[in-house]
Amino acid sequence: MAQSIPVKANDSIIYHIELVHDFSMLPTFLQQLGYGRTQKICIVTDSNVAPLYARDVQDLLEKEFDTVILHTFEAGEHNKNLETVNTLYQTLIEQHFDRQDLLIALGGGVVGDLTGFTAATYLRGIDFIQVPTTLLSQVDSSIGGKTGVDFMQYKNMVGAFYQPKAVIIDPLVLKTLDARQFSCGAAEIIKMAACFDRELFETIEKNRIEDDPEMFIAGALNIKKDVVQKDERESGLRRALNFGHTLGHGIESNTDLLHGECVSIGMIPMCSAKIQERMKAVLRREGLPVSLSEAAVQGKTILPEESPDDQVRVIAEAVLHDKKAQDGKVVTVQVDDIGSCSFVKMDSQQILKSLREVL
Ligand code: NAD
Repeated sequence: MAQSIPVKANDSIIYHIELVHDFSMLPTFLQQLGYGRTQKICIVTDSNVAPLYARDVQDLLEKEFDTVILHTFEAGEHNKNLETVNTLYQTLIEQHFDRQDLLIALGGGVVGDLTGFTAATYLRGIDFIQVPTTLLSQVDSSIGGKTGVDFMQYKNMVGAFYQPKAVIIDPLVLKTLDARQFSCGAAEIIKMAACFDRELFETIEKNRIEDDPEMFIAGALNIKKDVVQKDERESGLRRALNFGHTLGHGIESNTDLLHGECVSIGMIPMCSAKIQERMKAVLRREGLPVSLSEAAVQGKTILPEESPDDQVRVIAEAVLHDKKAQDGKVVTVQVDDIGSCSFVKMDSQQILKSLREVL
């Protein structure tokens, strides 16, 4: 059943997340938001999503809007940078886009973050809409208003908080997503349930996410929405959504594992002993590794040639150089019981100890 979830800031609704079963309602949603025939639309997408969905979306919109252009860039995190933003600025300038016009981000988190950042900065701000097409972007990156690109070796180093005018989610597009990418989105759902929602976690323990993605997407969206409504700028509660990410980012920068796989491994040492086995069970069932050696056995990564102790040291070094680290310590999130989390400060010794657990 289609659902409309309002997202608020300071008690006023700022946009709706629409859960739909195909994109046919897209023109109507835009008209309801007040966009008219003469407003120009640029669909921004990547080279994988373009041949799957972009033409259909463009055809639909062209029935109601005079100018609908498509801007496609090469897929991949390595293209989430200012160079790609520059080419998009050029397209918008050449096509005379002004502040009344609209960008639509059609793709995963890379497309969403990059389009949102372009929207935030082009002409000091132009409207944009998120149409996320990966599980991760549907449950996580498309809501909350964090936009940005990577700079040099630093992830999300340049960015802005900038809210979309709507988020339109069709879970059916996940049928073309590969299984590893699907699992990465599952890791973020498990993360949110473990931190905030015991009932959702217990439902995951009994069902595979792929059996009813829509139910789990709605569950995760409601958690994320509540958290960002309480803390839009990530000064407190929202940091809990970094559960698994502190160690995960260190692992991600030293292996070829995908983001969600690193988060999966990074969550394990941050769980209390009494829930660790439950966490491992749900993560494994969703196809995720819970240690680096398990990922290597699954053929997802090759362990570096250094001795295990050296590997741990290299990863710990990366964790302590994270942009959020301060005075040689990082604030991390730990889950004490399912549905309940807290913050802890970890120094290098504690980080080394945690990493040894998941090597
Ligand atoms: P992604 O955008 O790179 O998508 C993964 C792959 O799936 C890509 O190759 C893409 O082309 C392909 N793809 C997308 N939709 C598809 C579909 N329906 N069918 C087939 N293939 C499809 O990666 P992602 O995992 O969606 O997002 C990761 C990005 O999100 C990272 O850059 C991360 O920093 C960012 N992120 C942002 C936030 C935030 O709050 N803004 C939160 C979490 C993650």
